[in-house]
Amino acid sequence: YGSRRGTRGFVPPIRSNGGNSGNVTSRASATKGEDSLDDSTKRCMDALCGPDGELPEKLRNLEPRLIEHISNEIMDGKPNVHWDDIAGLHHAKKCVTEMVIWPLLRPDIFEGCRSPGRGLLLFGPPGTGKTMIGKAIAGECNATFFYISASSLTSKWIGEGEKLVRALFGVASCRQPAVIFVDEIDSLLSQRKSDGEHESSRRLKTQFLIEMEGFDSGSEQILLIGATNRPQELDEAARRRLTKRLYIPLPSSEARAWIVRNLLNKDGLFKLSTEDIDSICKLTEGYSGSDMKNLVKDASMGPLREALKQGAEITKLKKEDMRPVTLQDFENALQEVRPSVSLDELGTYENWNNQFGSLS
Ligand code: ADP
Repeated sequence: YGSRRGTRGFVPPIRSNGGNSGNVTSRASATKGEDSLDDSTKRCMDALCGPDGELPEKLRNLEPRLIEHISNEIMDGKPNVHWDDIAGLHHAKKCVTEMVIWPLLRPDIFEGCRSPGRGLLLFGPPGTGKTMIGKAIAGECNATFFYISASSLTSKWIGEGEKLVRALFGVASCRQPAVIFVDEIDSLLSQRKSDGEHESSRRLKTQFLIEMEGFDSGSEQILLIGATNRPQELDEAARRRLTKRLYIPLPSSEARAWIVRNLLNKDGLFKLSTEDIDSICKLTEGYSGSDMKNLVKDASMGPLREALKQGAEITKLKKEDMRPVTLQDFENALQEVRPSVSLDELGTYENWNNQFGSLS
């Protein structure tokens, strides 16, 4: 786990449709275009049609294969994360509830002076629960969740990113309330400028900002969440649109204890004493939530490794014969699983938070 997640959120390349990239004007009128669409593309388009059988206007000039990609790969109808799955982060949860969840649940109350910003930035070290928060927000408001990694837009969708962004916002507006989660948003809205910046990535950025502007001023129930572990790379335009900026820090000692207890309990493996847990917390200062998960995984292998070392056969081993996970297993695992965030990095986040973060 480096400071930059490369493989998470992998977006597979789109399937070729045998050259049928022609636009569909509406389901009813574009029979010619539709004939050449394969069944799965047709199903996606049909699912987006209104009660009148027409494709909503926003989608009419978009390529069906992009709409299909958004529907199948980027959209997640029911993300399975709840507030209770997230350790600590009480402050962030409280802020998010007030500024995001209530407005999505009661748009009628959050009008005028109370109208919320539609852009939220979650920043902080990798593996601290930013994506979990995005999913939990969608879950709490029964919103459709869209997850896209911004670096995939610039790396895998070269030349097509703009169109994909239009399709993304188009499909989201047909699936309201919607939460669009853009991971590594810095790679899309960074302030690195001109000479190195390709024309295509400049256009992509402009398109993205236009789309955001569009739903920000309208009555659409769409929330955009950007996540980054490089907030200092965002430019002024990005900061202006992401009006709420919440620091998602490393887990506190209590939150780390909670993660250990919760994960082991799920498997019925939790037998540690309060003193053991205290020791684990002391030894894991600086570990992220994701580091903690990896640590628990490694520690829970301890009893199995030991049983096999003592001659047990994997095929005959009974679960109930294995000893519980001990503090010693954690101490061994600590040799393998190191914290992925450095102290220097933390300083950068804190400075940025003091300068640009939202306090409430
Ligand atoms: P981020 O988006 O901040 O990089 P994620 O939300 O993807 O991190 O977290 C990665 C994994 O680490 C999660 O699936 C979860 O298992 C674990 N994790 C991270 N933070 C927390 C937390 N606060 N509470 C519980 N689990 C966490």
